[in-house]
Amino acid sequence: MSEGELARVSCATCGTTFGMTPTLYGFRKKDGEGFFCPNGHSVRFTRPAPTVDPRDAELTKLRSEVGSLTKDIARLTKENDALRTELELWKPREALERPAEKDEVA
Ligand SMILES: [Zn+2]
Repeated sequence: MSEGELARVSCATCGTTFGMTPTLYGFRKKDGEGFFCPNGHSVRFTRPAPTVDPRDAELTKLRSEVGSLTKDIARLTKENDALRTELELWKPREALERPAEKDEVA
């Protein structure tokens, strides 16, 4: 809806269609407060629009993903450390076994 265009609203009591500025329409949709049709009937949007900003939902989702990825990094770092330790444990044994094999062959 561009600036200057009016949001169309119909009165539930008399059926009159009237215009509201997009700003006021947005406020009333959001806060659920009442307003009046040109014939004086009290009108309100029955279900206020959710107060959750979609950007907040996106932010929450991204924060959750960052949390999940941070946990993954911690887990993988731990696994990597364990594998490095295991590699270090295997290295000297391999070095010791090789000369022994050579002796048996010789
Ligand atoms: Zn009315």
